[in-house]
Amino acid sequence: MKKRIGISYTEILFKNYWNWFTHEDLKDEFELVELSFEKNNTSDIYQCDGFLLTGGVDVHPSLYQGANTYRNRPELFQLERDVFESKIYHYAQLNKLPVLGICRGMQLINVLEGGKLIQDLDNGNERHKKEQIDKEHVINVESNSFLNKVAGSDTGHVNSAHHQAIDPSSIGFNLKVNAYENDDERIIEGLEFADKTNKGFMLCVQWHPERIRQKENNPLSENLKKEFMAAIKDTNNKKLIIINPATEEIITELNEDSRESLIKKIDLLRSSQDAWSDESIVHRVEVIKRFSGLLEENTEQLAAILSTEVGKPLQQSRNEINGARNRIKWMVDNAEKFLSDEVMTTAEGLQEKISYEPLGVVCNISAWNYPWLVGVNVFVPALLAGNAVMYKPSEYAALTGLEIERLLKKAGVPENIFHIAIGGKETGEILLQLDFDGYFFTGSFNTGKHIYETVAYKMVPCQLELGGKDPLYVCDDVKDINAVAVATADGAFYNNGQSCCAVERIYVHEKIYDKYIDAFIKEVRSWKTGLPGEEAVYIGPLTRKMQLDLLEEQVKDAIDKGAKLLTGGKRVNRKGNFFEPTVFTNVSHRMLLMREESFGPVIGIMKVKDDAEALQLMRDTEYGLTASVYSDSKQRAEKILKQLNTGTGYWNCCDRVSAAVPWSGRKHSGIGSTLSHHGLRVFTKPKAWHLKTS
Ligand code: NAD
Repeated sequence: MKKRIGISYTEILFKNYWNWFTHEDLKDEFELVELSFEKNNTSDIYQCDGFLLTGGVDVHPSLYQGANTYRNRPELFQLERDVFESKIYHYAQLNKLPVLGICRGMQLINVLEGGKLIQDLDNGNERHKKEQIDKEHVINVESNSFLNKVAGSDTGHVNSAHHQAIDPSSIGFNLKVNAYENDDERIIEGLEFADKTNKGFMLCVQWHPERIRQKENNPLSENLKKEFMAAIKDTNNKKLIIINPATEEIITELNEDSRESLIKKIDLLRSSQDAWSDESIVHRVEVIKRFSGLLEENTEQLAAILSTEVGKPLQQSRNEINGARNRIKWMVDNAEKFLSDEVMTTAEGLQEKISYEPLGVVCNISAWNYPWLVGVNVFVPALLAGNAVMYKPSEYAALTGLEIERLLKKAGVPENIFHIAIGGKETGEILLQLDFDGYFFTGSFNTGKHIYETVAYKMVPCQLELGGKDPLYVCDDVKDINAVAVATADGAFYNNGQSCCAVERIYVHEKIYDKYIDAFIKEVRSWKTGLPGEEAVYIGPLTRKMQLDLLEEQVKDAIDKGAKLLTGGKRVNRKGNFFEPTVFTNVSHRMLLMREESFGPVIGIMKVKDDAEALQLMRDTEYGLTASVYSDSKQRAEKILKQLNTGTGYWNCCDRVSAAVPWSGRKHSGIGSTLSHHGLRVFTKPKAWHLKTS
């Protein structure tokens, strides 16, 4: 596996930095990655093992409270570049990854660590400012510095091309000067960490080692590069490999978070949460509205990323992003109403009211099947309520997780109010050990139970949205059997059956059974299976390869126990995690397929003689997420649904979620609820106020 060196992009002279690393340097061990503020390719930052922050236009003065005008002020600053590169620097520090800061790169690092810049060197400028050919001068390297060790000398020749410099009276936190210009002005020529305990490699220089004359023979170029590369070689971040389920090709590799980086992140979240909760709800609503606007603007790009990593057909990815925006709309429209103080009683001399205080720093461990939807259910109301959030996307939807982070920050969520945790089960386990004020989990029953048990001793809220084995009953009085068959087949197979509320068992009244089955099978056979990006594809690959084994086991078990296979039943003979849409009849509750969550394109349909039998079968499950009844009579449907211990009941519809009503599971389907006003207030602690005015 090659180590990746991320080089921050700048239109001017970028090639010099790129070409500084020769074929001989890179061999088969390293590759270069362009990190471009113009492309805002944040997710590429997470692939890199070390970073070079390059030279270029002055850092925006607002970042260090500098004056807006000065002699050599550029016509245009590049604030977007500053923001993008600060993301790189913070990421490197959180993960102890090597950083080399050159010229402006050094100045930015000083600013990010709280230092300031001399905005114009005035007279000194003549000696340093950028011209056709770099000027050269001598520097003195501090004897006890890391730079001295690297250069192997107390002095050396360097080049100059700058008009700004590090302000010696305002050096950033934990930085120290390692080199000065050899003259009276003593311009600062380099910085490094003062206390290097628990820090990665970091060297900053004011000169340009990438283009200095005879750079191969100058230790202040060549040694710098070699040490930087050696430090990168020494990094040992665990990698999360992201695979395209449709092609089985590796999309990319991301650095996983370590225990240390997660501890740093939770500390940062904790230190910033008060300020966020002190902001008005109106402000937080505005930020989230901007986030929703960004989803709209970027729908195509986000849908493409989602389809590539989870395999869902492109149109279904678009639908998911639009669905997330609809949910956000309800939340922002209602946040003020349900999160503001509520006066409950006003009597003479007394007021009693409730205020809704944020929980604090909450942890959201999420699933991959609808990363936008299930994510939005949690992190949006949590942020609206004033919490800071550690969001762990599923390891199968990490790229979408990175987009979520990128766009929340772009919308104005402050830097340390939302952090992402990259990794799988082990990363999740670390989060369970850290000190959160609440855990909000979406995923399988087994993981949910484990999380509930593990965090119980903390005495903080723990909410679980888990799996299901959702039943659907078609009564004999439905008028349009064909339409019902088409709608219910969609309820079972949309997103390849990988929905928590997918229809997982179907019961059909014997009077309409044959007609229903014919229409159902006709519909299923009409679907096109293919790559997510292909036109009109309805069935894509499954997201996880291992689910194919589970489906095969359910199919075999059903056949062994006497089920009749009407269509499908096996993997599709092609590359990728494809499984044929599969329909069984003659099924019974002895079969795995009617008891355990399939989470794939497999359904069992059972004939029943009346409502009583249907009800008894629908109740026969450990899960309790949703249930659905199709009937011409609302009364008949409601009577059945009332007797089912599920969080949601559907009449003449299925597999749908609305932000206006609670989303909750019972029994093995979970604890607590998201969405609706319950789902806003669940991220708060109600405080009772007894206010005696006399
Ligand atoms: P999963 O339980 O395998 O993983 C969910 C998350 O938990 C992932 O981020 C994973 O990395 C993390 N995790 C795994 N082991 C962990 C551990 N020991 N400690 C801490 N974290 C751990 O579930 P999945 O495959 O991602 O999602 C599919 C399941 O989610 C299905 O059962 C589905 O029904 C359910 N789901 C439910 C809802 C709902 O709203 N009720 C919504 C979507 C999905």
